[in-house]
Amino acid sequence: MSDASHVDLDDIRAAAARISGHVLRTPMAESASLSTLGGVPVHLKLESHQRTGAFKLRGATNAMLALPADQRRHGVVAASTGNHGRALAYAARSVGSKATICMSSLVPRNKVDEVRRLGAEVRITGRSQDEAQTEVDRLVAEEGLVMVPPFDNAAVIAGQGTIGLELVEDLPDVEAVLVQVSGGGLASGIAAAVKALRPNTKVIGLTMDRGAAMKLSIAAGHPVEVEEYPSLADSLGGGIGLDNKLTFPMCRALLDDIVLVTEAEIAAGIRHAYFEEREILEGAGAIGIAAILAGKVTLSGPTAVILSGRNIDMRLHRHIINGGESCELEDAA
Ligand SMILES: *Cc1c(COP(=O)(O)O)cnc(C)c1O
Repeated sequence: MSDASHVDLDDIRAAAARISGHVLRTPMAESASLSTLGGVPVHLKLESHQRTGAFKLRGATNAMLALPADQRRHGVVAASTGNHGRALAYAARSVGSKATICMSSLVPRNKVDEVRRLGAEVRITGRSQDEAQTEVDRLVAEEGLVMVPPFDNAAVIAGQGTIGLELVEDLPDVEAVLVQVSGGGLASGIAAAVKALRPNTKVIGLTMDRGAAMKLSIAAGHPVEVEEYPSLADSLGGGIGLDNKLTFPMCRALLDDIVLVTEAEIAAGIRHAYFEEREILEGAGAIGIAAILAGKVTLSGPTAVILSGRNIDMRLHRHIINGGESCELEDAA
């Protein structure tokens, strides 16, 4: 690392070389409907088509491949709202290691089952990511497992940043990138790559209006604790960690703004993705489309929208497609 608190372009290029062949290089698809609506070319980066259904395989694979062989053999552990756990389970198995994944009880059942199916051991603890993290710390201290965190880790950020390299290659005149922000690994990596290659390109963060940890932390000037609420964008839940080292300073320095999106707007984004783009997306994955539909971002030139994942409970997806707006399936009956 050339700078202790930032992942840079060289780190991201090294990650791209390492993970090439292990993850998909996903396509960019121009959206006719969003381009017409926005009056500028809008391109969708289809990370929802990534193996394991979300971009997190990039960071997890880069982190696994960067581990020394003896640590790989010992096994890895992480706290995860699902997609990081799924990615780490897949990446660990593919290099002959084993993953233990700790999750809060708010994580949807389909995500828990999927992580088990990929060969990881799952431990459910507490009602927040911070409580799940406490269990991770215990396994590291008492059983010697190696922690691969979901976002605040240089190898993970560099892996997610490879998306930024690809989108500049595919859309060289990109003027704005719309990217999800939760813990900030995805946004930090993409912004580091894009700002290095295209200093004038805007990188706009997006998250749900309930529990916007990174936005509130940047406003406060330091990482703050937020309450977790059920949301259609469950992959964006959780805090940024009170002892955040990398993604807080990177998001603060590199993001031009963080825009908040409501549950109803996210539902409309999922519907638009399905009916107009013929894509199945989870709430987090649809939030960029949601922000454009809601007129919450000003589009001034070629725009790249990250579709970050598609791992939604299909009963919930059908409920939303039929006009529902709540993530509580019980309400739908
Ligand atoms: C994890 C995740 C995000 C947010 O990524 P961070 O690095 O935590 O900001 C967005 N979308 C999906 C589908 C995710 O799984």
